[in-house]
Amino acid sequence: WGYPIDVIRASRDSSQLLSQTRAMVGRLPNKVALVTGAGSGIGLESSILFAQEGANVVLVDINLDAAEKTAKIIASKHPNVRAVATKADVGKEADVKAAVDKAVQEFGRLDVMFNNAGIMHPKDDDALTTEEHIWDLTMQINLKGVWWGCKYAILAMRNNPTDESKGLHTGGSIINTASFVAILGAATPQLAYTASKGGVLAMSRELAVVHAREGIRVNSLCPGPLKTPLLMDFLDTPEKKERRLVHVPMGRFGEAIEIAKAALFLASDDSSYVTGADFTVDGGITSAYVTPI
Ligand code: NAD
Repeated sequence: WGYPIDVIRASRDSSQLLSQTRAMVGRLPNKVALVTGAGSGIGLESSILFAQEGANVVLVDINLDAAEKTAKIIASKHPNVRAVATKADVGKEADVKAAVDKAVQEFGRLDVMFNNAGIMHPKDDDALTTEEHIWDLTMQINLKGVWWGCKYAILAMRNNPTDESKGLHTGGSIINTASFVAILGAATPQLAYTASKGGVLAMSRELAVVHAREGIRVNSLCPGPLKTPLLMDFLDTPEKKERRLVHVPMGRFGEAIEIAKAALFLASDDSSYVTGADFTVDGGITSAYVTPI
């Protein structure tokens, strides 16, 4: 066919890899995943889905009760894997380091780091009214927290033992939750939140490039507006909801599980050639000018 021999060999290797992957149970067999914000919304659904797909999971949240509830759900639904809940404030470097250390102590490795915890402060507003302490708190959790999550995950992933028989390697997948507001401006401003999520996108891209040859992939997930407590507590009237929905081509808020499924793709080897991506899962909002009525 005129293909060089190394191309033919590579395609044979990849088809073998594919059939080996199919023979394994789930899409994250033998992997260890750490999820921040695991007590609610995207983090809750992703933790359950990762466990369903064969991963042992470390459930991190500032609300330990919520993380423990997630662990109980996993224990009842997926007894073949182990879920460990731990309290950490991702806005504190020592807490983030301790959470990553716990994953390595419990399971000997870290394959997936989902830096997902974030806040949207009710007093976060425009440039004129947002107070400095609200700006600082938002950056501390949403941006510095993700930086620390990446830092300690990279250090752990570099030391991951390789076990070919189990499909385990050094390196891993880091997923950072940004937002559609990192891409679009909103006339309902939350300046600190928007700036923090823009920082997550830019930082993730650079980390993806720096660490690409270590087998560490870094991608950003950009959810659209979702039906989770973070947004629904804030959009507490039909008018506030409608003000947003008119801009969503699909005409509805997303579900946390729809974001979890995208996180699973980025976490698994299905996305083995995806790094540095701004992965939008947003009902089409970032592609829209005029939406259907
Ligand atoms: P959520 O409020 O349902 O869950 C967030 C979880 O994070 C909670 O369990 C909370 O206790 C935990 N948390 C908060 N601060 C923490 C801290 N300092 N340390 C550790 N844990 C902390 O929110 P969600 O909608 O699932 O949001 C998850 C991520 O998705 C956030 O980063 C958010 O900014 C982003 N996001 C959400 C939407 C949306 O519409 N809901 C849209 C785009 C992006």
